[in-house]
Amino acid sequence: MSLLDNKDDIKKLVETLNLKQKVDRALTLIKEAYEKYDDSLVVANSLGKDSVCVWDLAKKVSPKIRGFIVTTRFKPQETVQFMKETVAQYPEQKVFKNDEAIPDKLYQTDPDRCCYILKVLPVRRAIKEMEVKCWVTGLRCTEGRTRTDFKEVEERDKGLIKLNPILIWKEREIWQYLALNGIKVNPLYAQGYRSLGCAPCTKIATGEDERAGRWINTSKCGGECGIHTRPLKTNVDGDGI
Ligand code: SF4
Repeated sequence: MSLLDNKDDIKKLVETLNLKQKVDRALTLIKEAYEKYDDSLVVANSLGKDSVCVWDLAKKVSPKIRGFIVTTRFKPQETVQFMKETVAQYPEQKVFKNDEAIPDKLYQTDPDRCCYILKVLPVRRAIKEMEVKCWVTGLRCTEGRTRTDFKEVEERDKGLIKLNPILIWKEREIWQYLALNGIKVNPLYAQGYRSLGCAPCTKIATGEDERAGRWINTSKCGGECGIHTRPLKTNVDGDGI
């Protein structure tokens, strides 16, 4: 049976598999999906540690695999620089950005709308323009309160498969993998950040929840930008809300 069809207990796997087993499982998931979807399999890169981990795994499966980066006008300088270096090294990663005018400080007054315009819309465009049938993400189920019910293979949008090959990895295992493979990360981690986003909406936070520093003091605190919760394929030209 293909691992893509697995019905395994994800929460159990988080605790029972070791790092080597998790790496092998992630590589198998990407390999099987790549065999199935070929060039229409594309890796999404948020420029965070989980994304660079997934990108490295994907390149081990095939150097031909493409990627896309969604950036916004509010990304910290360090992330912008890291993005430039990433694209210089991997020109097969295409950058998508929405520069349309938005109300001043929309991230304070309506962060959902701000994320929708600046993040969700460019992801939709990436999926359409790159003719993606399977997108590969760095989602992990131990990352925060909103990320506990995802599966390794999902079809939230009809005709668009989402592959989450490192879903069962813990934060520590990401850092282990990156250190063992000598992979460079966004310099903001050295300042104490654990989860990275746009500058106005990301703070350094401590405590259990890895995403606790995201959208502090808003209804979205520790939450999601919408990329993983809103339709990405259907109504591509509509507002989808
Ligand atoms: S993270 Fe903040 S600034 Fe970035 S798109 Fe979302 S609300 Fe806007």
